[in-house]
Amino acid sequence: MRVTASAAASPLAPAWLSVPEDPSRLDAKLWAEDVERGDDGVLRIDGVSVTELAQQYGTPLFVVSERDFRARARTFRDAFDNAFRELCDGVDVFYAGKSFLCTEVAHWVREEGLGLDTCSGGELAVALRAGIPGHRLGLHGNNKSAAEITRAIDAGLGRIVVDSLQEVALVGDLAVQRGRIANVMLRLTPGVHAHTHEFIATAHEDQKFGLSLAADVPADAPTDTASDTPAGRGPADGGGTSPAQRAVADALAHPGIELLGVHCHIGSQIFEPEGFELAAQRLLGFLAAVRDRHGVELPELDLGGGYGIAYTEADEPRPPAEIARAMAGVVGSTCRELGLAVPRISIEPGRAIVGPTTFTLYTAGTTKTVRVDAAASEQGQGAPATHPRRYVSVDGGMSDNARPVLYGADYSAVLASRPPEAAPVLSRVVGKHCESGDIVVRDAYLPEDTGAGDLLAVPGTGAYCWVLASNYNYLTRPPVVAVADGVARLIVRGETEDDLFRRDVQREPATDPGDARP
Ligand SMILES: *Cc1c(COP(=O)(O)O)cnc(C)c1O
Repeated sequence: MRVTASAAASPLAPAWLSVPEDPSRLDAKLWAEDVERGDDGVLRIDGVSVTELAQQYGTPLFVVSERDFRARARTFRDAFDNAFRELCDGVDVFYAGKSFLCTEVAHWVREEGLGLDTCSGGELAVALRAGIPGHRLGLHGNNKSAAEITRAIDAGLGRIVVDSLQEVALVGDLAVQRGRIANVMLRLTPGVHAHTHEFIATAHEDQKFGLSLAADVPADAPTDTASDTPAGRGPADGGGTSPAQRAVADALAHPGIELLGVHCHIGSQIFEPEGFELAAQRLLGFLAAVRDRHGVELPELDLGGGYGIAYTEADEPRPPAEIARAMAGVVGSTCRELGLAVPRISIEPGRAIVGPTTFTLYTAGTTKTVRVDAAASEQGQGAPATHPRRYVSVDGGMSDNARPVLYGADYSAVLASRPPEAAPVLSRVVGKHCESGDIVVRDAYLPEDTGAGDLLAVPGTGAYCWVLASNYNYLTRPPVVAVADGVARLIVRGETEDDLFRRDVQREPATDPGDARP
């Protein structure tokens, strides 16, 4: 039996949130393609019901659709390949491993023909453990250790993305020591910062990553090891040499470096192509300046990741093909204007590949309803109106999804273990941590009888959730289950209480009561 929403929108709800007309309907853009609500009202993924999953693996539980992951990886690869085929014979797609990585997922990435970007020795270890060949791997980071760089050089990495002048020297010198040549791209800050729906173009980027394109930025002195390289500074540069140009000169001059090209990553959760387009224009302009100065056309350009996904009904991401076409148009026309051969393009999507493939399954526990003053503008002359907000506590929280606390990120939630029949009421899904900021879903309409024992599913938790998980309050970190062809299998096991003690250097247990006071 379905109940149509009779509930009016709560004045406490954000403007973008609507009362669901049919609470049992799933908003397709939020979910993996094989998630549906069965006739019994229970959520299923590729035929496997969430009640079975909860029984077998417990909650909280990350549930990833393998088919959906592979499909999104292929969609990015094909969309960009098609858009750029005529220009530069296609695009290399590097999955950004920091968004979610374990060896099984690294295998999926390899099997779908993508490369993989890492940003630490640990991520690199996972990729190598999965047998991804070094030439399909990248290493990022603004402060890589010598050990990380050495490992990357020894593994023959396809690209080490160098972030600073000091690192040009460090990577080059380490390569020489190892008797190898390091493949290097330079990370530049094109002065474009894109954030969600808008981008801001500024002269300087006030953040830690990358080499500035601005000529008036004082470059930090390179380390001593680099001071004898014939860097592109001095009179020939007219005093207006940017850190980016100096890095190019240093890299070209270093016998341990093969300079492939330049890289930028302008932000995250970006919906419109304009930010990518402007960044591409600026970096191509830089490549033309490098050609004019050094007589070399660098063969590669990486435009980073940041493609947005839907976390709530309010988000409307564009299909990758549409963004790819817009970017290809700008790359093609800019190269024509500059008389530049189109470099080989690469991109690094993370969130847009893995984010929507996964939902988190929680079990609800305690609930309460509070009454909250409406905003001042809502209040009439008489007593201020108050409105109910229902709190539903679940068995996880900020230890399995830190994004609401870190970024104020919004999510959605649905009742997953039975049909949502009671009237929808404005609810807040909260975790079990000792923090009042421990919010999982700030605003969602959930059936008013949602309570202890019900399963809730939060979609869009594939990226930057499990990888950011912590043991705060000594909670164990949840397992990850992959579903494919109607079968669920564990790809990362959950932690046990033993795991919580694994690194704790314990004394012998006390033999006396231990409460004797002097
Ligand atoms: C984080 C990051 C990405 C991936 O960003 P998404 O928003 O997940 O697509 C790609 N490249 C670099 C350099 C990054 O730091």
